[in-house]
Amino acid sequence: MSEENNYKEALQHAVFNTITQAASNLELDSYVIGGFVRDYILQRGSAKDIDIVAVGSGINLAKEVSKLLPNQPKIQVFKTYGTAMLKAGDIEVEFVGARKESYQENSRNPIVENGTLQDDQNRRDFTINALALSLSKDNFGNILDPFNGLEDLRAKIIRTPLDPDITYSDDPLRMMRAIRFATQLNFKIEERSLKAITKNKDRITIITKERIVDELHKILLSEKPSVGFLLLEKTGLLPYILPELLALKGIDEVEGQRHKDNFYHTLEVVDNIAENTDDLWLRWAALLHDIGKAPTKRFSKKVGWTFHGHEFVGSKMVFKLFKRLKMPLNDKMKFVQKMVLMSSRPIVIASDVTDSAVRRLVFDAGDYIDELMTLCEADITTKNPKRFKKYHNNFKIVRKKMVEVEERDHIRNFQPPVSGEEIMETFNIKPSREIGIIKEAIKEAILEGDIPNEHEAAYQFMIKKGEELGLKSS
Ligand code: ATP
Ligand code: MG
Repeated sequence: MSEENNYKEALQHAVFNTITQAASNLELDSYVIGGFVRDYILQRGSAKDIDIVAVGSGINLAKEVSKLLPNQPKIQVFKTYGTAMLKAGDIEVEFVGARKESYQENSRNPIVENGTLQDDQNRRDFTINALALSLSKDNFGNILDPFNGLEDLRAKIIRTPLDPDITYSDDPLRMMRAIRFATQLNFKIEERSLKAITKNKDRITIITKERIVDELHKILLSEKPSVGFLLLEKTGLLPYILPELLALKGIDEVEGQRHKDNFYHTLEVVDNIAENTDDLWLRWAALLHDIGKAPTKRFSKKVGWTFHGHEFVGSKMVFKLFKRLKMPLNDKMKFVQKMVLMSSRPIVIASDVTDSAVRRLVFDAGDYIDELMTLCEADITTKNPKRFKKYHNNFKIVRKKMVEVEERDHIRNFQPPVSGEEIMETFNIKPSREIGIIKEAIKEAILEGDIPNEHEAAYQFMIKKGEELGLKSS
């Protein structure tokens, strides 16, 4: 084998030599396979998880490796899968015995038999994921590439080793993986694969929601998430996964009036926000910020197209969507809901920025005002350069005003300057409705700018308000 087919420089981590020694002790062959090899050749930085195939027992190889390592790390055995995992320093190594797989109709879990390296490469999802480097002493670092995966890496193509129709039908998760890799790596999915995915799209229903969501997260966290969502749409997978998003597609026209296509708009917003944040949940918010527009769309002769209340409707839809996808209904979900609910607020105030509007915005957004502004800036997708500049400028003004107002009024993490106890003491009253009314009036006065956010001013205001309610201060 020529020099250019040897990749020993990829195998400098000490753990590889240990595996070589362990495999030699057990008289079996072993290989590094899959993501590690792919990412090394793509120079995506050294992967922290390494997959090892043993032609023999993967679990025994893991045990032998552990014995040879200085600290003899514990190995975790997954009997059902015939795999074992151990940690060597900062990396995780997973061992599996080379296997041959055959699938049945209703499950993505195949029947497994022992096999050769070639059998094991056959069962891999993509040619670029089937590359293996030998760890045997006599040909350490040689690459085994039966499907021209190297060529596909160079040409940036996602292709299956075997017939794509069978590959995707056997394990439909691979359809999501194909689209995810195309998005992460900026690769094209070859035509035959695209056709096979389209043909097998309804097979996605046998995949658990958790697996689908894992792939969606990876798509969303890519540099240009729109690539993945466009592929989901093109292949017909989108209606199974995010019908709410697909419902935004299309432009209606009544009496010569058209609205924008909110599907493509949304994808632009997601790509925009990806340039400014790696926060998965803020990216989710960008993806879902307009989903309320499909059910609220109306046309009236007077004002044309409207989407009244779409933010509120959208935030309710977020809950249902998370629930359907079996995503946790936790603070992250609430954050996404809040972003969707507030997604138009900064836009509404931007054209005429008053102090009180800014104070109310900061108050309502609470801890998430920065994220909300990031979302709204990403929402600017106008192709008119003048407007583009104007809208961004408006938001700059809002941001500047936010800083000024915050310095003066400390609205963020608002704490009432007069407490309920103080109100009760002052008017010598027990817990009652009046206390709530007074507290709310103080907060309103501060947000309106009638009084500063200070104890003395709030105290005087409280006395006045209490007297209006017929209370007497002691
Ligand atoms: P990443 O870790 O970045 O997601 P990866 O390629 O390492 O990428 P893993 O899910 O860690 O992906 O899987 C490791 C390897 O196992 C893959 O490279 C591939 O060879 C194989 N593989 C994983 N999932 C499948 C599948 N559903 N069908 C066939 N082969 C798979
Ligand atoms: Mg991996």
